Amino acid sequence: MSATIAAAAWLEIVEGPAPILLIAPHGGRAGAAARAALHPKVNDLETAAIARELADRLGACALINSAMDRNELDCNRLGQLAARAPWMLELIASRVEHMARRRGRAIVMLIHGWNVIEPRVDIGLGLRDHGAHLRPPAGAHVSASDDFISGPVSAITERLDRAGIAATFGMRYPGGARQNLLQAFTPRHRASDIPAVRRLAALAADGAVDAIQLEMSVAVRMPGPLRAKGIAAIAESFRFAHGDDRGSRHWIENIERNLRRARRNPRSAAATRAGRRAVRRRADPVWRGILRRRRKRWRNRQLRSRRGRRRRTDHDSV
Ligand SMILES: [Zn+2]
Repeated sequence: MSATIAAAAWLEIVEGPAPILLIAPHGGRAGAAARAALHPKVNDLETAAIARELADRLGACALINSAMDRNELDCNRLGQLAARAPWMLELIASRVEHMARRRGRAIVMLIHGWNVIEPRVDIGLGLRDHGAHLRPPAGAHVSASDDFISGPVSAITERLDRAGIAATFGMRYPGGARQNLLQAFTPRHRASDIPAVRRLAALAADGAVDAIQLEMSVAVRMPGPLRAKGIAAIAESFRFAHGDDRGSRHWIENIERNLRRARRNPRSAAATRAGRRAVRRRADPVWRGILRRRRKRWRNRQLRSRRGRRRRTDHDSV
């Protein structure tokens, strides 16, 4: 086994106020290790730039591997990180802990490239689509809560779909393999002998972390309108993670306005996309639940801020 690799210029660290951590584990470039290998693995081209852009739009933190060849160090494999770059696992664990402490929860998003051409994003949550059900493959743990899946994740799929990008769940990459970095954000490795991995598993067991792996096809990664639409679809689905009252108020008001319109005039509602969506949501108990919870959360926040209690945490909710 090669020696430990020091924290170096290949890992970019982006700071941001939102409780979101983006990681691009395979954003590096082919180097000597790739040339020496008989079947080198392809690095995920453009994922470093995409993670940078997403971090900027979301106000997120990001750990971006922009130069390390995955054939030399695979930052998506827990064993390799533990053996050769344990400081990176420490960095991840301390970031996620900090977010969870300050904001009650953290979102982790792993940005990867899938080398198919057509516009697609395969979503990894430790789940695979079996027609009517999503089920974890053998041994896998699910990396996100039901709320997270029926909230922002379903919003992503809906937005991608509207942008002409097919979204699937674990079609090729469920993110369920034991060594996959995604599994570090589940309770799976509670008994791991790596302290940072144990700390992450404990947070996940407390429900304090939701993690998602996005495998973006070539068409979605190459600079151009599809990439811009894909990034917008993801960024807009996570606006609420900012803890921004304005965002969630507008979101609720918008949906409620569309619902009212749909109720008043079903025929004209059926003629618009927003109207059809509103009708669909009204009939869907999951959406009704999301709306109810969001409304409650927003009202509670308003009450709190009215009492002035928010003053001492104001610097946290930029
Ligand atoms: Zn990858």
